Amino acid sequence: MSTQKNITVVGAGLVGSLVSIYLAKRGYKVDVYERRGDMRKANMIAGRSINLALSDRGWRGLEGVGIADEIKR
Ligand SMILES: Cc1cc2nc3c(=O)[nH]c(=O)nc-3n(C[C@H](O)[C@H](O)[C@H](O)COP(=O)(O)OP(=O)(O)OC[C@H]3O[C@@H](n4cnc5c(N)ncnc54)[C@H](O)[C@@H]3O)c2cc1C
Repeated sequence: MSTQKNITVVGAGLVGSLVSIYLAKRGYKVDVYERRGDMRKANMIAGRSINLALSDRGWRGLEGVGIADEIKR
């Protein structure tokens, strides 16, 4: 019998996505449910017009899950 614990996260915003990565790195099997479509695959007529600012808190979150260098590149 598997001892792996399952966790369900509802919402793949900043918090849901980050906590899902943390939990997966700790060995949990994480299922993420997001009501909106994947914006990387959506055909957006208006494009992406908002500039995104990454604060120190945001960088710490990315560093915490080991993807800050990848994001910087
Ligand atoms: C226009 C705008 C610009 C911004 N720019 C910046 C910026 O440059 N830098 C910055 O740090 N912050 C920015 N923010 C703030 C930042 O977006 C929020 O602080 C952050 O998204 C909050 O994260 P969250 O995970 O709590 O919520 P959200 O990002 O809102 O994520 C919640 C997710 O849960 C999903 N959801 C909700 N209910 C359900 C359900 N029942 N079933 C399935 N899925 C569900 C939603 O679709 C959503 O994707 C901006 C906000 C706005 C509105």
